[in-house]
Amino acid sequence: MTADTETPGVWADLVGQERIVEILREAAEAAAARLSRSGSHTGPDVAPADAMTHAWLLTGPPGSGRSTAARAFAAALQCPSGGCGKCSACHTALAATHADVEVANTRTLSIGVADARALVSRASRHPAGGRWQVMVVEDADRLTEQAANALLKAIEEPTPRTVWLLCAPAVDDVLPTIRSRCRHLSLRTPPTTAVAAVLVRRDGVDPAMAAFAARAAQGHIGRARRLATDEQARLRRHDVMQLPLSLGRVSAAITAAGDLVKAATEDATEEVGALAAHETEDMKRALGVGAGTRQPGNASAQLKVLEDEQKKRATRAKRDGIDRALIDLAGFYRDVLAVQAGAAVELVNEEMRDAVTSVARHSSAEGTLRRIDAVLAARAAIDVNVAPLLAVEAMTVALMSG
Ligand SMILES: [Zn+2]
Repeated sequence: MTADTETPGVWADLVGQERIVEILREAAEAAAARLSRSGSHTGPDVAPADAMTHAWLLTGPPGSGRSTAARAFAAALQCPSGGCGKCSACHTALAATHADVEVANTRTLSIGVADARALVSRASRHPAGGRWQVMVVEDADRLTEQAANALLKAIEEPTPRTVWLLCAPAVDDVLPTIRSRCRHLSLRTPPTTAVAAVLVRRDGVDPAMAAFAARAAQGHIGRARRLATDEQARLRRHDVMQLPLSLGRVSAAITAAGDLVKAATEDATEEVGALAAHETEDMKRALGVGAGTRQPGNASAQLKVLEDEQKKRATRAKRDGIDRALIDLAGFYRDVLAVQAGAAVELVNEEMRDAVTSVARHSSAEGTLRRIDAVLAARAAIDVNVAPLLAVEAMTVALMSG
């Protein structure tokens, strides 16, 4: 009993997912029991029906903590004490530097067949630490069909010591052939209060700021942390939220659309830009490219590959940034709808209550629903590669009417 309430260990950063933690902890315990059984006699591992499975699919909305859950589970599998959170197995597994934990976290738009084959080959290795070979695929929704097919057999008939942890936003984002071979766990959007509490506890954020950031981020933990700790991010969000209030004339709306895309894009580029600079430095050092030395023959080719990868990632980050801005906007109109419905609820944008109330008073609930649809339509359009600025302009014009 006491152990259950006192051992957050590797699970500490998993916010508002008590049921998932319980299931994964049980699985890690069953896995450890299986290891000790197989160690006590020779012969192949017996695999009785227990809480442990070799292939898992973790789904949940962005920011709910799917990859946090996957890494915590990886740590619990590698830790001799089931995920104490203190030993080196726990630390390295959480940081994805453990020799037997492979984290494939592509930030590009898709995972191709070559990447998938590399994962399969890696998965077949015997774990160096003698426990489990854990394969985390953070964006299983980005597997191309070919790549998914390349993974299929490895997931279906894994070597006895291999565990696959696939993460994706929703179960429908993963090919049926893959998902039918996995045990599926669905993370929920963490409650605002739980997100705020973790910001206070872990990041030392002031409670009032934590409450604001958790509300504004609508359950996205990473976004909440950024809003709470980065004033620029807060200012950009503030700019985005001015759009519904500046829809007087078409020209103003078009300007507002441009501003939104710019603010959202800046947010994203800042994040990936710093990362890219680091990577380029690291690679140059590894390749021996430096001041005064001649560039080795294949160094420029390798740097070019990295550069292409970084460009793809930047494109993706921009799209994600705009998507986040559109989620913020949809939140604004949901607030308007709540006021129009007379619901006594806390608004996502509580600090804008006056503006929300004013928009609510000057429009109808039907109009608000249409506006929410317009925002969702813009998200869908960008998702199928419509140029973001065009989609956002069309949206702002739609937001003006009715
Ligand atoms: Zn440990």
